[in-house]
Amino acid sequence: MSEKRVAVVTGASRGIGRGIAVALARPGYDIIVNYNASPGPAEETAAAVAARGGSAHLHRFNIADADSVKEAFKEIIKTYGRVDVLVNNAGIARDNLLVLMKASEWDEVLDTNLRGAFLCTQAVVKQMLRQRYGRIVNVTSVVGVIGNAGQCNYSAAKAGLIGFTRSIARELVSRNITVNAVAPGFIETDMTLALPETARQSLLQQIPAGRCGTPEDIAAAVVFLASEAAGYITGQVIHVNGGMFMG
Ligand code: NAP
Repeated sequence: MSEKRVAVVTGASRGIGRGIAVALARPGYDIIVNYNASPGPAEETAAAVAARGGSAHLHRFNIADADSVKEAFKEIIKTYGRVDVLVNNAGIARDNLLVLMKASEWDEVLDTNLRGAFLCTQAVVKQMLRQRYGRIVNVTSVVGVIGNAGQCNYSAAKAGLIGFTRSIARELVSRNITVNAVAPGFIETDMTLALPETARQSLLQQIPAGRCGTPEDIAAAVVFLASEAAGYITGQVIHVNGGMFMG
């Protein structure tokens, strides 16, 4: 059983999730680095966590698959005896205009980005209730609040995640479990790499800070919400977007 604090970060093999896992890393912390399809990059995250003095443990599971989520958290809780922090970060995009969107594109995004967060949270919450301690941080998006043409599935999932956050924050706060969301703006990761240069330039013009965000910008907010010091903050959405939208 771990004497340390234990944090699970979903989708920590790359991008924002990697930034969060590394920023959470410190001596006295076990960081569970979840990934699905990218074992090599997940190893790189683990090495970066270790370089900061944290202990990293790789766990492959598909957050959209109820059985594998249940199995993974059962094993994590059995091994470490506790989970203090859950960051629901893993997410995908399958962009299309409404008129062209396939039901499969809708389902895939909702299953991963919204149902996946529900499954992971439900799998961990009984342990947090027993501990009388927990910090849950959900990574939503600016488009979950303002919408975005071509992303009705993604923005619906991210808006749903905000409703989920606010509801369970009310259910859990009396047991010293806080639930908050961080809403990134436009962040340089694999997810945004595919954008054509014209779309990138037009997005940049909407950011008063004059630059894209980095995974570290998002991780700083997550680390704060995941800390003991943030114990009186719950049900909130922190926007980290360089002034693109002020919620
Ligand atoms: P990314 O670079 O594409 O990385 C996505 C991560 O999610 C990867 O580690 C991937 O792991 C994991 N993942 C995807 N499906 C999974 C599944 N079914 N089970 C487990 N892990 C899964 O994306 P990102 O930009 O870092 O985005 C991270 C989060 O921030 C997402 O929720 C995204 O919606 C949100 N966000 C991003 C931006 C942005 O501008 N980048 C803006 C707002 C919000 P594998 O490769 O191992 O499958």
